[in-house]
Amino acid sequence: MCWCTPLAAAPVAGGRFPLSSLRSHRRRGRSVRADASPEPEADTQRKKVAVAGAGWAGLATAHHLVKQVCLNLRGDRFIPSAFVFSVRRAHTLVREYEVTLLAAESGPTEEVGLRGFWYPYRNIFSLVDELGISPFTGWTKAAYYSPQGLTVEFPIFHDQPRLPAPFGMLAYPEFPSLPLIDRLTSIPVMTAVIDFDNTDTAWMKYDAMSARELFKMFGCSQKLYKEVFEPAIHASLFAPGKQCSAAATLGMLNYYMLSHQESSDFMLCRGEVEDIIFSPWLKSLELKGLKFLGNRVPTSLAINKDTACVSGIVCGEEVHEADAFVLATGLSPLQCIIKNSPFLHSQQEFTNVLHLSTIDVISIKLWFDKKITISKVANVCSGFDDPSGWTFFDLTSICDDYTDKSTTVVEAEFYNASHLLPLNDEQIVSEASSHLIKCIQDFEGATVIHQLVRRSPKSTMHFLPGSYKYTLRGSTTLPNLFTAGDWIVNRHGSFSKEKAYVTGLEAANRVVDYFGDGNFAKIIAVEGNEPHIETRSKATGCY
Ligand SMILES: Cc1cc2nc3c(=O)[nH]c(=O)nc-3n(C[C@H](O)[C@H](O)[C@H](O)COP(=O)(O)OP(=O)(O)OC[C@H]3O[C@@H](n4cnc5c(N)ncnc54)[C@H](O)[C@@H]3O)c2cc1C
Repeated sequence: MCWCTPLAAAPVAGGRFPLSSLRSHRRRGRSVRADASPEPEADTQRKKVAVAGAGWAGLATAHHLVKQVCLNLRGDRFIPSAFVFSVRRAHTLVREYEVTLLAAESGPTEEVGLRGFWYPYRNIFSLVDELGISPFTGWTKAAYYSPQGLTVEFPIFHDQPRLPAPFGMLAYPEFPSLPLIDRLTSIPVMTAVIDFDNTDTAWMKYDAMSARELFKMFGCSQKLYKEVFEPAIHASLFAPGKQCSAAATLGMLNYYMLSHQESSDFMLCRGEVEDIIFSPWLKSLELKGLKFLGNRVPTSLAINKDTACVSGIVCGEEVHEADAFVLATGLSPLQCIIKNSPFLHSQQEFTNVLHLSTIDVISIKLWFDKKITISKVANVCSGFDDPSGWTFFDLTSICDDYTDKSTTVVEAEFYNASHLLPLNDEQIVSEASSHLIKCIQDFEGATVIHQLVRRSPKSTMHFLPGSYKYTLRGSTTLPNLFTAGDWIVNRHGSFSKEKAYVTGLEAANRVVDYFGDGNFAKIIAVEGNEPHIETRSKATGCY
């Protein structure tokens, strides 16, 4: 990504941008030169932007805005592009935005635990290239388990000959105990999945229904649902199918599993995302002028009643004033902000958000006293202890820190884990160990020599049936307030981190549009449907 993003690459995030801002974009795109260093101290009328939340979404917004620079002639006026080349020596580049990033912790953080990066994460992969870092393992294989043992083993799909979607997903995984007749019952529902186009109409059509009802309606066998789809839903939406919106499930399956054969392939971060990705990323942003303020927990928003705009983010005793604001704190902190802000609390758009639910997660890192053979690095388990699903990862083969040791280090994450929250660490570890033994017998003779238990209550959105109508968009009725995060409504079609990152860029674009100054971030679209699917969708006029 560069300062001179071509106009054609400007995304249409939640609507079309007005012509005036596109014109200023085109002008600036031609006049800004990358060979001059911006002068952060130069005097300009810089617009102040405050971003709350230093996860993927908040960092993405800051990332784009701190790169916006414009020309300034002797520090007193901006000059038109036609004039630039004749007076080039006299100009300086100045930062257009003064960006402050407010973080709840001392540094940028992710929700919890360890993270997978899927094949379609094109925007995040492009960011990683831009940062010049190599945070990932190679492509990794996964397996699903039920209390009866292994149910599915997935290959690395892009190593297999490419079949038209969704047949690769039917043909290449190994299902030790799932008869072909059960697998064939997936075809009708797969058709619905690949037709799901993430439009408002599609969401409204399926959101009131649960995923469980959807699979029943399409005739999916119970065994197939239990052994394949239920674990996929648990691992991506963090709750069982009967508690998840059918629309969210269709969107998720479309993005991660069925629209292209290789969509299910993923890599893992070779350590904590905070250390390996966020830390160098934040450093690069600070070098570009970002003001990072840690340990600031926003409690409410201050509103200017005359302008009906936000005037500041209140963090305890401090008020951080700015001209525009992006809230990227995640759902649960935003709900607290709404409850504490009388103006927001009087607006339907924001009180709607209070109807949304969140999910508790427990993450456990266990060190075992011996080497244990874990055939797949990433493992998804479901049906053990309804309503919670869980995953475990062999950190010994992922993280540089744990390789070549005589121990085995495993990370397990329990989703929808409210029933585990009141237990003490020993009880949680004992629960996790007994679950692990059901999947891999070798754990039986191994002793836990060290443990780390992290409780993350309300850590992620619960996509309950009927949630869609309560969910915020990236723009709000307050003209200078924007939101970002993996839980808001957008039309990109991605999920999880990639969606959070994309909504962060979209929020930056909304800020640029609001001020009418700067370049729009280039957002890479999700790969389009394969031609046979496109033809089918057009013929049936699905949505
Ligand atoms: C258990 C689990 C496993 C997951 N695994 C994966 C995976 O493998 N791959 C994947 O792509 N995605 C995964 N996700 C989803 C992914 O973590 C999210 O999509 C992503 O973290 C969302 O980023 P965000 O910036 O929107 O929000 P968050 O990551 O929630 O970031 C919000 C930021 O705001 C900060 N904050 C919190 N409260 C406040 C406050 N009051 N004020 C200011 N700041 C605050 C937080 O500390 C954080 O820095 C997983 C999620 C969970 C819960």
